[in-house]
Amino acid sequence: MMTDIDYMRRALELAARGRGRVHPNPMVGAVAVRDGRVVGEGFHPGPGQPHAEVFALKEVAAGTPGVTVYVNLEPCSFVGRTPPCADLLVEKGVTRVVCAMSDPDERVSEKGFARLKGAGIDVIVGVLEAEARALNAAYVKHRTTGLPYVTLKLAQTLDGRIATASGDSKWISSEASRVRAHRLRADADAILIGSGTLKADDPELSVRHVEGESPAKIVLDSRLEISTGAKVFEGAPLWLATSEGVSNRRLQEVEAAGAGVWVIGGGGRPGLLDVLRLAADKGYLHVLIEGGGQVAASALRGNLVDRVAVFVAPKILGEGISSVGDLGIDRISDAVELDLVEVEQIGNDLFYAADVVGATEQQG
Ligand SMILES: [Zn+2]
Repeated sequence: MMTDIDYMRRALELAARGRGRVHPNPMVGAVAVRDGRVVGEGFHPGPGQPHAEVFALKEVAAGTPGVTVYVNLEPCSFVGRTPPCADLLVEKGVTRVVCAMSDPDERVSEKGFARLKGAGIDVIVGVLEAEARALNAAYVKHRTTGLPYVTLKLAQTLDGRIATASGDSKWISSEASRVRAHRLRADADAILIGSGTLKADDPELSVRHVEGESPAKIVLDSRLEISTGAKVFEGAPLWLATSEGVSNRRLQEVEAAGAGVWVIGGGGRPGLLDVLRLAADKGYLHVLIEGGGQVAASALRGNLVDRVAVFVAPKILGEGISSVGDLGIDRISDAVELDLVEVEQIGNDLFYAADVVGATEQQG
């Protein structure tokens, strides 16, 4: 006998199929059940496409008695690019709706539930809520703080170096780890790097070794020194975050080459917080920071990092360039604390993922 929890687990599995594709929307899956049988299921495949509930109810005739719909997020109640799902559930005469969590977007939160309850539908909220919140952590953070969820990726030696003192960095981690790193990219909506990394590596920042879409690219380039022949110009959208005072001629050159430019005021280098706010405004829910050490340090100093994803290679360099620049920490008790999520051995490398303790709570 399948329980509410079992069906919700299925809805969450379905929802996760939208990973890396649905931003700025949340990942949502839905399952319709009647007399202990699944009569429909589906997930939201991306912006402008039908919501999960539409797929789940496709084969259900209006007025069919005894239908329960399981969905990991509160059904929408507003007219967006598609009609509201709460209305669909009411029109189909669904008896019961089981949800994992309410929509964190306060403009719509609880309104979907109110619509359903107003139509006499039995509504249950909170089944597998923790799992549902974890799945859509980026969406929740975006809607509650106006900032993207940030993963900081590091690939370093055992002693925390990303390059030798002379700047040689290829390759620290193994081929297998680099494949895993492309999975991180495919799961993100945008990748962010500093101009130092751009100059040193001329990376393409695309998804190549795994299936998935290449995320947008954001380069911090305060003086707009990027060459229009740089590989980042190929493929996915490119945003250059720069400072006031760059010449119009440079602006026109990079725009003609296909980049969007974010000119950020306030003098000096563009602040990471401002850049992340602009990324959130563009609908990027999840930003992957890929380097280098100075960007990593300013992200951690600003308490902007939600998760750290580190590839550790079995190599020791001694002196060299640190994976994280100076954080101004004098006491161990002031260290950035992490909560371990995952450890995986990849060949001879170690992959380590951990959440920054208290990250999201302190922002906004
Ligand atoms: Zn909907």
